Amino acid sequence: MTSNITGTLINYYFHCKTQCWLHANRINLEDNSEDVRIGKILHEISEEKNKKSEISIDNVKIDKLTKEYLIEIKKSDSDPEAVKWQVLLYLYKLKKKGVIKKGKIEFIEKKRQSKKIHYVELDEVNEKELLEVLVQIENLINQEHPPEPIFENKCKKCAYYEYCFI
Ligand code: SF4
Repeated sequence: MTSNITGTLINYYFHCKTQCWLHANRINLEDNSEDVRIGKILHEISEEKNKKSEISIDNVKIDKLTKEYLIEIKKSDSDPEAVKWQVLLYLYKLKKKGVIKKGKIEFIEKKRQSKKIHYVELDEVNEKELLEVLVQIENLINQEHPPEPIFENKCKKCAYYEYCFI
């Protein structure tokens, strides 16, 4: 059921289809990754700061919700397209609950104390595309085997690197 697709899964779908399949099929090696650990710490810090505004909808944990925005906080801007779709999914889930928001993505750099901000809005065109993507993800994760991994630069930082290439 496409309604069970999480923000993490749609993010992975755009980042790497093999990763999407592996995560969905619970081959979970991600706790070993330094990057993921840093991400979790950053997330905990932001949770601490934003405790009052954090909410959970279906199986989606939203970093922060303000009057105008749903805010997603990321530790790196290495794949903004994947994060954009993750946020569009959240906006869609909120819309289904009657809550209309715009998306604001804050990329907080690990070393620098700066942040980059991207904005995204759900409209008729990307909502239609989103629904198509959800069906495609459903089809992908129901395949018996993951897509053959293809080595790219991003693999060096991926928690599944050993699984895919060693
Ligand atoms: S190592 Fe590369 S191919 Fe394998 S899941 Fe990660 S990003 Fe995808």
